[in-house]
Amino acid sequence: MKKGKIFVVGFGPGDFKHITTRAVEALQQSDFIIGYKTYVDLIQDLVSAKSIVSTGMTEEVSRAQDAVRQAEAGNIVSVISSGDSGVYGMAGLVYEVLIELGWTEATGVEVEIVPGISAINSCASLLGAPIMHDSCTISLSDHLTPWNLIEKRVEAAAMADFVIALYNPKSGRRTRQIVEAQRILLEYRSPDTPVGLVKSAYRDRQEVTMTTLSEMLNHDIGMLTTVIIGNSSTFFYDNKMITPRGYQRKYTLGEEKQPLRPHQRLKEEAEPWAMNQETGAARTDFAADPNAGRVMPITAQPVKKKTSLEIASDALAMVKGTSAVKVTPKLVQQKIESIFELAVSPGVANKFFTPAQMMMLAEVVGEEGTMEYTPDHQIHLKIPTTEPGEITAKLRSVDFLLAPIGDVLSLKACDFCYGEKVDSIPYAEEIQEKLGGLSLPKTLHIGFNGCGMACYRAVFDDIGIVYRKSKFDVFIGAKPVGRTAHAAQPVVEGLEPEQLIPLITDIIDEYKANAHPNERLFKYFKRVKKILHFNYQDMSSKIEVEPAPCGD
Ligand code: SAH
Repeated sequence: MKKGKIFVVGFGPGDFKHITTRAVEALQQSDFIIGYKTYVDLIQDLVSAKSIVSTGMTEEVSRAQDAVRQAEAGNIVSVISSGDSGVYGMAGLVYEVLIELGWTEATGVEVEIVPGISAINSCASLLGAPIMHDSCTISLSDHLTPWNLIEKRVEAAAMADFVIALYNPKSGRRTRQIVEAQRILLEYRSPDTPVGLVKSAYRDRQEVTMTTLSEMLNHDIGMLTTVIIGNSSTFFYDNKMITPRGYQRKYTLGEEKQPLRPHQRLKEEAEPWAMNQETGAARTDFAADPNAGRVMPITAQPVKKKTSLEIASDALAMVKGTSAVKVTPKLVQQKIESIFELAVSPGVANKFFTPAQMMMLAEVVGEEGTMEYTPDHQIHLKIPTTEPGEITAKLRSVDFLLAPIGDVLSLKACDFCYGEKVDSIPYAEEIQEKLGGLSLPKTLHIGFNGCGMACYRAVFDDIGIVYRKSKFDVFIGAKPVGRTAHAAQPVVEGLEPEQLIPLITDIIDEYKANAHPNERLFKYFKRVKKILHFNYQDMSSKIEVEPAPCGD
């Protein structure tokens, strides 16, 4: 007798282009095709004149039994599922029926599970790239699963910041489940969390909707919809839903998240959350690149393990309500520790730190952060935290001037001879207030010196401002670093004070609007040959040295 075989075939989302070659082969070899009527209709054109058995939606067990019976009678049978047959599909049921009959691979009919593209994948592809990070699927159907278990899984997934694909979100009869799921999710995730709704992916009536967690129920959700809920990093861009490959590792002042370019993101740097292989503790070193040859502060602190007695006492204190540890059972949003980077200085003109400021620095930086003295009249802080706002409030309480780090404008003023030459300080402060921290194509320093001595070397900054005889001289386009460093070119002498801020603002506006990303002011000036009405002069023509790029 001819030996029978069961294929359990996932035929993908529904169009012929997304069915695998193996699935088509299986369907074409089969004597019988067994499946839900709608699905059998979908693949009808692929199979030639075979006996097709199609049964209703709820007859899954009898479908599996039919398949086994036909295979045992020597036929080749395909049981079909949409998507992947192993994801809320027929594969498991077929095995369950076989097992009941004492089937084993060695003695029974042959079984082949043919994989297909599941809805989580097909729907994700239509939304952009929402499943880039850890994700899970949850079926909201309580037809075969108790609702309290589903509820628990939604909560656990929400808590763990998984991207979630909700299958079977709603049907004519089951309408409350999605409402409950949304309520649970909103306890852990922001109402603005991106959500994608895909109905009938790759079928005739395909619909793709981008919405948010709070708004999602205002859209049509049905039996043929998959709901994809983003994690706390997922964002919308150009009508696409995108989950980054990793979490943000850094933020700086004024920016809740500091967007990292992909090449930076993929480097292993500043990852306060990584597991330390030796100790099991969170790693706290910031050594960016072990080959860079620079001495970087490493503050790896193995976390002290609590004794059992301490753990027990803590637990007891929590139960009694005497604990100092606040128990927050539910987070509105997953908080992820990132490195908060910012720069501090005592002031624009003031170069003196107070003891209170030094003590506050020690307090906020703690054992795990770093503070680095830089050539820019600032101390750079890098602090792993979930609460940057608390850090800035503390630093401001002792009158620190705070500045973001990165491609921003910073003002470097002189000490005005310890405040003797005070006349121009208000102008420096106004520049700091108006333009300090402005994000630009590349780092830009404005050097501001209170007399013609220019002893803080304003002339070597991107923009130099020197106060002289109650007026200002302005210099632009220095190359401040490198072996071909050169001074800026003088563009205005004897500028009236009230014209200073408008002029500097115009220069910055023009540079910001027109420079390429990463193009420093001197390079921009050299390329375009003109900023406002100032013509470029080559200040570097006499320097002849071999080029030496970074690191050489
Ligand atoms: N085995 C299937 C899942 C079957 S459960 C798979 O792997 O995809 C049925 C649920 O799958 C539907 O309620 C819907 O949430 C989802 N689904 C299946 N096909 C879909 C499609 N083409 N577009 C959107 N969602 C789909």
